[in-house]
Amino acid sequence: MKYRRRLFSAKSPYDTNGTEELFLRAVRENCLFHYTNCPEYRKLLDGLGFGEREIVSDSLPLSEYLARLPFIPTLLFKRRRMFSVPRHRMFVKATSSGTSGRFSEIGFDAGGLLCGLKMVLRLGRQRGLFSLRPCRYIVTGYQPHRGNRTAVTKTAFGATLFTPCISRKYVLKYANGKYSPDFDGTVEAVVRYSKKRAPVRFMGFPAYMYFLMREMERRGVSVRLPKGSKIMLGGGWKQFYAEQADKDAFYRLAEKVLGVSDKDVVEFYGAVEHPIMYTDCPNHRFHIPVYSRVLIRDCDTLEPLPPGETGLVNLITPMICATPILSVMTDDLGVLRDGAECGCGIRSPYLEIIGRVAPDSIKTCAAGASEILSESISALKGADQP
Ligand SMILES: [Zn+2]
Repeated sequence: MKYRRRLFSAKSPYDTNGTEELFLRAVRENCLFHYTNCPEYRKLLDGLGFGEREIVSDSLPLSEYLARLPFIPTLLFKRRRMFSVPRHRMFVKATSSGTSGRFSEIGFDAGGLLCGLKMVLRLGRQRGLFSLRPCRYIVTGYQPHRGNRTAVTKTAFGATLFTPCISRKYVLKYANGKYSPDFDGTVEAVVRYSKKRAPVRFMGFPAYMYFLMREMERRGVSVRLPKGSKIMLGGGWKQFYAEQADKDAFYRLAEKVLGVSDKDVVEFYGAVEHPIMYTDCPNHRFHIPVYSRVLIRDCDTLEPLPPGETGLVNLITPMICATPILSVMTDDLGVLRDGAECGCGIRSPYLEIIGRVAPDSIKTCAAGASEILSESISALKGADQP
């Protein structure tokens, strides 16, 4: 995996133009590995006419290669376990939280984890997330316990390691076999922490953060948190999608009740099936780092769309060997925009998530997504035949 190693060692994390050839080599290397080691993946690719000859072919430029490379819908990982290394060689198995009771299980290999660590260090440093100053953490998410292996819980816990940690408080507490929110205790802690010297860092779901701040506003509680305090958000906006106005309201509320300016609100985007840490820029946009590429595909034809057009979000990274998540199709709708339009100085394109494919709102896209799913499933059913 020498190309993967070189890609994740790149000096400038947003130099996507300068790393095209390296990215393409790393993708070919990763694809061939999964094709050789994962029978289901091999069956899928063969079924779609993308065999060994196509995988190693160096006749296509990166954009065309990625357009042709078969993708797997993230939904499929919820129905099917697919691994390319033996289970005992996997270090972490993360699961996505399934609302329907189904969940993805994604394995990580040691090399992939090392790449992930390099990525987090490089991107975190660029966004000023690391500090030696001890902080108090309030996690607006789940308290970890043995039965909870979800990636979002692991990520939230991981984020409390960006600085020395004085204490961790969880908004969703685990007791008697279930989670329940503790807003009273959290508001009381925020008030107490605001009178101390150490910065406070929030990490977790935007929705819970928003409810917490609204609850403070309703009770007439407003504080000025110590300088250096931050609000870190991950796990998606769900009901806040699409409305940029809602995000602005969020920033205003953070300033009003916590005294945290929007420059200290940092947002992450990612998925368990695509463990790249998309960190927002100072203008709150998700630029594409060198470690991944994003294609926006037409809902009906599934062909890649030019920048500025809305479609299904296809995420590609050669980071992981243990599970064939090289190219995954999410059920998010998004748009890619030219990096220069942002104005923050980062040149790589940025991704805007517009919403999630929902049968009642975007019928054509939902149809497209379920079609991909049924095609992939029938290809895999073929794999079960002797
Ligand atoms: Zn930017």
